[in-house]
Amino acid sequence: MGHVPSDLQCRAPGFPVNAGYDAFTAIPPTPELDLLNRLKDELPRVWDGEPFDAITFRTALEFVKARKPRGLYVSLGETDEWAHAGHYAAYLDAAHRADTYISMLWNLLQSMPEYRGSTTLIFSPDHGRGEAPVQWKDHGEKVPDASTSGWRSSVPTHEPLASGRTPKP
Ligand SMILES: [Zn+2]
Repeated sequence: MGHVPSDLQCRAPGFPVNAGYDAFTAIPPTPELDLLNRLKDELPRVWDGEPFDAITFRTALEFVKARKPRGLYVSLGETDEWAHAGHYAAYLDAAHRADTYISMLWNLLQSMPEYRGSTTLIFSPDHGRGEAPVQWKDHGEKVPDASTSGWRSSVPTHEPLASGRTPKP
């Protein structure tokens, strides 16, 4: 869900995909999902192919509750978009929200017997960024240090990220 390759559906038939501003219809409608789909249609579109992370994340939560999938991939794009635009405060706000979303997802999974005690959550950016004061806005092969990431983590434990504990090896 979120910013995913447009041809992912073709490469993984039967794997529900929701990207961009498309309404998510792969699960039975709920009041929450109806509102999320309406907001995708009605909110201003700051970026061409990507809604705000709140829409993407909360759609993913509805999917988890309805389908209880064995795997889930969620791509949040606001930090990248705000950084490219040079809005540092918005970039930090988006990173903080992403952190909150990880905690929310973990807490939801731990509240469900299908996931409690048997789920691994992996969180990783897809790339790093350049250095301050200018290159933090960009990434790619021409940006030094963008191939490394400063905040990659994986949690192969059954402890919530919010606990602040060091993940077990
Ligand atoms: Zn980017």
